[in-house]
Amino acid sequence: MSLLEKVSNLAKRRGFVYPSSEIYGGIQGMWDYGPLGVLLKRNIKEEFWKSMVQEREDVVGIDASIIMNPKVWEASGHTEAFTDPLVDCKKCKKRFRADHVEGKKCPDCKGELTKARKFNLLVETSLGSIEGEKQTAYLRGEITQGVHANFRQVLDSTRVKIPFGIAQIGKAFRNEITPGQFTFRSREFEQMELQYYIKSVEAEGKKWFAYWKKERMDWYEELGMNKKNLRFREHEKDERAHYARDAWDIEYKLDGEWKEFEGIHHRGDWDLSRHQKFSGEDMSYLDDKTNKKFVPWIIETSGGVDRAALFFLADSYVEEKVKDETRTVLKLHPKLAPYKAAVFSLLANKPKLVKFARSIYDDLRGEFMVAWDERGNIGKRYRAQDEAGTPYCITIDFDSLEKGDVTVRDRDSMKQGRVKVKKLKEYLTGKLNQ
Ligand code: ATP
Repeated sequence: MSLLEKVSNLAKRRGFVYPSSEIYGGIQGMWDYGPLGVLLKRNIKEEFWKSMVQEREDVVGIDASIIMNPKVWEASGHTEAFTDPLVDCKKCKKRFRADHVEGKKCPDCKGELTKARKFNLLVETSLGSIEGEKQTAYLRGEITQGVHANFRQVLDSTRVKIPFGIAQIGKAFRNEITPGQFTFRSREFEQMELQYYIKSVEAEGKKWFAYWKKERMDWYEELGMNKKNLRFREHEKDERAHYARDAWDIEYKLDGEWKEFEGIHHRGDWDLSRHQKFSGEDMSYLDDKTNKKFVPWIIETSGGVDRAALFFLADSYVEEKVKDETRTVLKLHPKLAPYKAAVFSLLANKPKLVKFARSIYDDLRGEFMVAWDERGNIGKRYRAQDEAGTPYCITIDFDSLEKGDVTVRDRDSMKQGRVKVKKLKEYLTGKLNQ
């Protein structure tokens, strides 16, 4: 079984990700995040926001609407150029992206393929309730344009000064021709991005491009991703957007194949000058030192929350031999782990123990996401928490009642130690912030 299959099985079994509307047979390219998945995704987004907005003086955040005036997509070139070349198999009728098939035969049944046709990826919808008067609109194909369309507003309503950035996290939609590989290629997905505005000068472009490339790679490494599964790849000339001055991807190696999950792009003044042209609004920046106006250049970092979640799961998935059994464990970074700790009463039928354990659980819940489990025996509970990626399991036993301490078991080393109940919060905080 491939790692992707193992991860998607675990994701479903433990409540990370389910196929959307599965009771009706599902819908291609759509996924629902379950109780553990929603926590993992929130943690990824929170870490992103913390490092990109909270800890920086030069970046502010925004949350733009998903449906915008359709002219936005004309200006950005999406209605015209947001296309993938598509081929159909004449025999089995399957569709493929022309750039994903080698040769002229269907990869599935070896049937003959049609000529490549352009296929627009924007998802169309309509606004208004009166038939005949409905207005065509689009679900955003990328979150980027919501930022650029608000460039003027942010300049006028805050004190930002170039160089500065606007970060955003939100849903995007694409009519992908071949959704698949679990959540890797979905039709609805979330992006986390930074648009960083700089002076329109070559040296500045080079400096900030290198800076953001490094920042973003460091971020994944600091959250525990294995260096050997990460690399940068420069876009080929024919793969680059026509306006891109430089473009690199951060890729993750899954089942032996390198896959994109974040792009660092030098967009030049493309977006702002196009919005200036199409809207008639002035998108230039006045440098108060030189008194000169210019249209800023943009360095963008564009990552996928779902692809990050998938790769964090794959990267942390470990099967270990423990005595004669195989233990499956998600060695997620504690900052990303859905639950930071799980609390157990050694025995579920001893009211005194359960009461004490619940008081600890209630106390910890005020500060951390904590799980409670009273099913089966301790061994089973450990295994369930290992598969959920919970870094610490806390067990309350009879000694706890007398001595005021508990057993804390470490997920990765499986080592156990006693910790005073009074010191438990401090202990966990220390461990989680390591
Ligand atoms: P691909 O070549 O895989 O289609 P792309 O180059 O079109 O991706 P971008 O437009 O640069 O991707 O989007 C930025 C990020 O958004 C990607 O790196 C990825 O993490 C995420 N993303 C894009 N398309 C999808 C999708 N269909 N499903 C999930 N995430 C996506």
